[in-house]
Amino acid sequence: MKAFLLSVFLFYSLQPQAQQRLLVDTHNDVFSFQLITRADLGKLQPIGNFDLVRAAKGGLNAQVFSIWCGESYGKGKGFAHANREIDSLYALVARNPSRMLLVRNPQELKQAYQQGRFAAMIGVEGGHMIEDRMDYLDSLIKRGMCYLTLTWNNSTSWASSARDETIKKDMKPLGLTQMGKQIVKTLNKNGVMVDVSHVGEATFYDVLATSTKPVIASHSNAYSITPHRRNLKDEQLKALAKNGGLVCVNFYSGFVDKAYDKKEEEFLKRYKKDLDSLSVIYTPDFASTMLNVLHKKEADQIRPHLSTLVKHIDYIVKLIGIDHVGIGSDFDGSESFPAGLDSVSDYPKLAAALKKIGYKKEWIDKIFGGNFLRVWEANQYK
Ligand SMILES: [Zn+2]
Repeated sequence: MKAFLLSVFLFYSLQPQAQQRLLVDTHNDVFSFQLITRADLGKLQPIGNFDLVRAAKGGLNAQVFSIWCGESYGKGKGFAHANREIDSLYALVARNPSRMLLVRNPQELKQAYQQGRFAAMIGVEGGHMIEDRMDYLDSLIKRGMCYLTLTWNNSTSWASSARDETIKKDMKPLGLTQMGKQIVKTLNKNGVMVDVSHVGEATFYDVLATSTKPVIASHSNAYSITPHRRNLKDEQLKALAKNGGLVCVNFYSGFVDKAYDKKEEEFLKRYKKDLDSLSVIYTPDFASTMLNVLHKKEADQIRPHLSTLVKHIDYIVKLIGIDHVGIGSDFDGSESFPAGLDSVSDYPKLAAALKKIGYKKEWIDKIFGGNFLRVWEANQYK
């Protein structure tokens, strides 16, 4: 009898938990982080925002992993680096075949969801990684890229970034050149989404005039609430909706709360010595993440309230409709997020906060994944 009860218990406890909804996050940088820490993301990690254990706890079942390197990775380096990060993702999937699936199209995303396996997708963040070569673009498409963020903070020779368009005010922005247009058309043809987060306004409108498919902003917020060059102005949001596209809200405190930058500046000034020491060991981004770990109590005090993030979602929903908003946390790509959002285990808190302001389950389902699936599917057909 005991053995029977035990086997019944084991049967039920080993069944994949019923999934509440498709939950897609369109932007996570953990593979840049993982190249430094060599963490096994299949196991619970003491630092950072992502691992498969916390993803399961938070109901996250689909993630676009950002493949990223900064502008110091120029010709001869960027493409190789992108492939190293993609290799790390492939290796994680290969080590966890029953838990994960590398997903290259919407059909495979649905298959992974139905099988209760975590869907891993590739988003390449920064057009400089193709090093101005169409064969490198083709190669990344073949490896499974689901979106290309045309620029990171640095412009390419074929598209100007938000940073460069705002800093170099006296220069006529480049926008999208002929080669840029060819790249957008190639992405369209291959069912790969064009990501306009990080591009300047000139490039943004050139992309919308060129793309025959809906585009996404994989990790950007509302400029009207937080006037940062990485966020989208009302006119841009309306244009994105007209294109059938999607803006996925970013959790980074600096894009959520306009008061954060000043508070962060004071925090960094106070602990400059520690930051300098950490910068000797780590890259600048990772050093500031580690500084927040080191001085957690004070770092926690300057985080915005979760309701500030909800304000961005609700503002965009009211402006352009429920069908054009998604989630692109930027977890592991930033050092600070709203209070309560510590890792991928915390999405239920965001769902609860949306419910609290009157969002129905069907609306939250759209924001948390349904809209992404629709846009990706719309990119597949000629
Ligand atoms: Zn980014």
